[in-house]
Amino acid sequence: MASISTTAKETSKTIQMLERIGSHSHVKGLGLDESLNPRHTSQGMVGQTSARKAAGVIVKMVQEGKIAGRAILIAGPPSTGKTAIAMGMAQALGPDVPFTMLSSSEVFSLEMSKTEALTQAFRRSIGVRIKEEKEVVEGEVVEVQIDRSLTGATKTGKLTVKTTDMETIYDLGNKMIDSLSREKISAGDVVSIDKSSGRISKLGRSFTRARDYDAMGSDTRFVQCPEGELQRRKEVTHMVSLHEIDVINSRTQGFLALFAGDTGEIKPELRDQINAKVGEWREEGKADIVPGVLFIDEVHMLDVECFSFINRALETELAPLVIMASNRGMTRIRGTRYKSPHGMPIDLLDRVLIVQTKPYELTDIRAILQLRAQEEDVTIDEAALEVLTRIGGETSLRYALQLITTSSLAARRRKADSIDVQDVRRCYGLFVDEKRSTQFLAQYGKEYLQEEDYVDGIPAN
Ligand code: ATP
Repeated sequence: MASISTTAKETSKTIQMLERIGSHSHVKGLGLDESLNPRHTSQGMVGQTSARKAAGVIVKMVQEGKIAGRAILIAGPPSTGKTAIAMGMAQALGPDVPFTMLSSSEVFSLEMSKTEALTQAFRRSIGVRIKEEKEVVEGEVVEVQIDRSLTGATKTGKLTVKTTDMETIYDLGNKMIDSLSREKISAGDVVSIDKSSGRISKLGRSFTRARDYDAMGSDTRFVQCPEGELQRRKEVTHMVSLHEIDVINSRTQGFLALFAGDTGEIKPELRDQINAKVGEWREEGKADIVPGVLFIDEVHMLDVECFSFINRALETELAPLVIMASNRGMTRIRGTRYKSPHGMPIDLLDRVLIVQTKPYELTDIRAILQLRAQEEDVTIDEAALEVLTRIGGETSLRYALQLITTSSLAARRRKADSIDVQDVRRCYGLFVDEKRSTQFLAQYGKEYLQEEDYVDGIPAN
C-alpha cells in the first residue's frame, strides 16, 4: 500500500451525536468540582455521587493517557443512571476523545462475525490525530513561529505569534524591536501589541487559541519579530479513527460505506498494514494516537466467545478504555451452562474495575424528573410532580420519565400550560408499568398464546 488515505473524517462523530440526543440529552457532564467531588445536582446529573466520583477519576486517567487497555464495569439495578454516567464521561472527555457506544445485541448481526463487529467497535474508539502542514492564507488567524536572534542580544528562540493580516504584522513588528528585550521575551512566548499605542505585552505561553485572540478585541494584534522569517505555513490537525482509516482504504468498501454504515468485514492484512503505517507516522511525528472509550451496554448479552475476545483485545497495544454496563445479578454466561455475577466470566470480572450504581431516593427521583421536564420544555405543577415522584419510587424512574412526555401531550390537548395530577392519572391509566403488566399476566396469562403454541415462530396447529 503506497499511501493511506484519511479523509471522510467526521462521520462516526455525527452518528454518535444523533445517539446522544434523546433520553440523556439533559446530561452535560459528570457535575464534579476541581477535586473531583460531585456536586449533588450539576451538569444534568443528580445524586449517585460515589459512582460519579469514580467515573471522574477514570476520566482524569484517560485524559492523562494512563488508562488504555483497562476495563470498567458499571453495575446496578435498571434505570440507576449507568448509561447517563457513561454519557457524562463522554461529555467530560470532550469531542477530541473518541467515544463509541455499542449495545451488545448489535454484535449479533448477520452481516459480520461477532469478533469482526467487536474489532470494528474497538478500532472506532482509537483516534489518530494527524498533523498536516497547510499554506497560510492572508486574513486567517494563524500561529507562526520564527527563529531569530532578538535585538542582536543573546536571546535566540522561537516566538509564537498570531495575526490576521500580513501588512499589520510587518508594520507593528517594526515598533516591537526595542520592547522585546525590555519585556524579556523568550522562546515560545506569545506577545501582543496594541495597534494605536504600539504597547507590547507578553501573554505567556498558553495564549495560543483563536478564541483568546477574539477576546482581546480588534485593537490588539499578535505579532512576529519583523526581521524573522514569517513561516507561510501552519500546522492543522484532524482526527480520524482507526476504523475510518480501515474502511477508507478497504478496496471492497471505500469511504462511502462510512456514510451508509454498511462497512462489511475488513481483511486482517489490511488492518496490519494500517497499524504499521500509523506506527511509522507516530515515529515521524506526523500523528498521535488518542486512545478513546468504548462503552458496551447490556454486556450480559454478550457470549463467552465475545468475552474471550475482549479479554485478549484489552492486552493489545492499541486498546481503548472499555466501559461495560449491566443491570443483571447472578446470570448465566451466554454460550455456557455457568452462572456468574452480571453474566460475565470470572477472569474478565477479575480484571475490571467495578463501579456500582444504587437505587435512588425519592428526592433524587424528583430532581431528575424536574431536570427532564426542563429539558423537554414542559411545566409540571407541584402536586403532579409529587405524584410522578411517588410513581417513580414505586415503579421505575424510567416509567415516570416517560409519563412526563405523555402527560404533557394530555395537558396540551386540554390547552393547559402545565401538567396537573389529572393528566398524570390519565396517562398512568393508559400506559401500564412493568409491575402492573406482570400482575395482569399472573391473573389472565392463560388467555394469551403461550410459547408451547409455537414451533419456530409458527403456530403449531
Ligand atoms: P438500564 O440498566 O435499564 O439500562 P441505566 O442504569 O443505564 O438503566 P439510564 O438509562 O442511565 O439507566 O437512566 C434512565 C433515565 O434516567 C435516563 O433518561 C437518564 O438520563 C436518567 N438518569 C438516571 N440517573 C440519572 C442521574 N443520576 N442524573 C440525571 N439523570 C439520570
